[in-house]
Amino acid sequence: MFDIRSVARFAATVLTAPVMLVNAQQPAVQAPATPVVDTAVDNGIRMLVSRLELEKYKATIKGLTQYGDRRHGTKRNRDAVDWIEAQLKSYGCANIERITYEYAPPARPAGGGGGGGGGARPAQPAGTVIGTTPANGPGGSRQRGVRTRTGVNNDSLAQTDPKLRALNAEPTTPGQRQQVVCTKVGTTRPDEMYIVGGHMDGHGWGEAANDDGSGTAIVMELARIFSNPDVTTERSIRFALWNNEETGLNGARAYVEQRQALQGIENPRGSGKYPEPKWLGMIQHDMMMFDHGMPNPDGSMRKEQRPEADVNIEFQSNSKMSAESQKLAWILHAANEKFATDYPATVGPHMTNTDSGPFQDLIAAISLRENERGAQVGAGWDPQWHQVTDVYATYSDADFRLGLNAAQTTLSAIAQLTGAKLKKP
Ligand SMILES: [Zn+2]
Repeated sequence: MFDIRSVARFAATVLTAPVMLVNAQQPAVQAPATPVVDTAVDNGIRMLVSRLELEKYKATIKGLTQYGDRRHGTKRNRDAVDWIEAQLKSYGCANIERITYEYAPPARPAGGGGGGGGGARPAQPAGTVIGTTPANGPGGSRQRGVRTRTGVNNDSLAQTDPKLRALNAEPTTPGQRQQVVCTKVGTTRPDEMYIVGGHMDGHGWGEAANDDGSGTAIVMELARIFSNPDVTTERSIRFALWNNEETGLNGARAYVEQRQALQGIENPRGSGKYPEPKWLGMIQHDMMMFDHGMPNPDGSMRKEQRPEADVNIEFQSNSKMSAESQKLAWILHAANEKFATDYPATVGPHMTNTDSGPFQDLIAAISLRENERGAQVGAGWDPQWHQVTDVYATYSDADFRLGLNAAQTTLSAIAQLTGAKLKKP
C-alpha cells in the first residue's frame, strides 16, 4: 500500500533530480540541489519536451481512429490493441505486456457513475438546453450556467458516413479482454514507478478521436520519447493503455486487482528485476482537446477553441490519498507554467469518472482533461462527447494543440519526478 515517505520524495525529487545533458563518455556531473531553477535541468527537460510535435501527436490520433470507436469486446477494439502494441514495440518501449481479464456486463446498465456506462440514446438530443440554475454534478462538483443534455449515442443511423457506420457495426459481446502496457525501466530505482495512462476504448458510433484517442496518443507519445536510447530515468515509468473504461473503468480495476499485491517484489530474487515496481503515482489523460467554453444560451457552441482554454488537472478531494494527490497535481501545474508552450493549467478537486479512480485511495492519483469532468464536461461543454461527431475531422489545430500542451505538462513533470537524463549526441 501507500508509503507516506514517497510523498516527501515528490518534493525532494523536484528539488534535486538532475535532468540535464550529460556526455555519454563522462560521468554525470550532479546539478546543485539549490537553487531550484537550474538551467542545466531546465534545458534537459526543454529538449525532451521539444520532441513532442503537433504533427506526430495528430498522426497517432489519426492512427487510432482507423479502428472507429474501438468499442470493447469487438474486433475493431482488438485490432486497435494490436496496433498500439506494434507502435510501442517500434518505439523500443521495454517489457510490453498484455493484461488479460474477463468482462461480464452488470445486470443493469452502469448508468452515469462509471465513466459513461452503456446508456441509451437520450430522449432529447445532445446539446439540448436543460437549465441554467446551478445543479450538482459528478465527483462532488457544482454545475453553473448554461447546462445541456449529454449521453451516449447508440443509434447507428445517427452516423451519416456509411464507411464509419459499417466499421462500428459489430456489437460488443462479453468475455475476455486485453489491454497493453510497457515500461521505461529505471536505472537506480527500477523498483519504483509512475503510471501514465489513457483509455483506448470508446463508443458512440464515431471515431472516439477525443474520448479518448487524444489521451491514448499522449501516453503513446510519452512512451516514444522516454524510450529513445539517449534518455535514461532513475525511476521507472509504466505506460498504460486501458481498455473497458467506458463500461465502468473495468480495465484499470482489473490492473489494480491483479497487480496491487505484487508491488516492489524482486522476481527472480537477486535479479534486480521488478515486474511490478512500487506505485508512486498515477496520471490519467481523458478527453484532452476541446475547450470551447460554456454552451451558448441556445445550446450551440462557439466554433473556435476559447482563448482562455486550459489543461484541467484534477484530484479527488474526498479520496484517501487526497493530500498526496493534490501535491502531485501542483507539481504538474508548476511543470506546465515552466514548459508548456501555449495553454496554462488549473487544478481542481473533483477528479471523477476515469481510470485514475481505482487508484485514488491507494496512491497519489490525478487526471488531466480539456475541462473539469464534473462541472463542465458533465454540463455539456463537449458536444462531441460519446457522439458520432467525435471524429478526427471535427478538430482544428488549436484543439490538437491543447492536447499537446497536456502532453508537455505530464512529460516535463514525469521527467523531474523520475530523474530523467539526456545524453549528448
Ligand atoms: Zn474517456
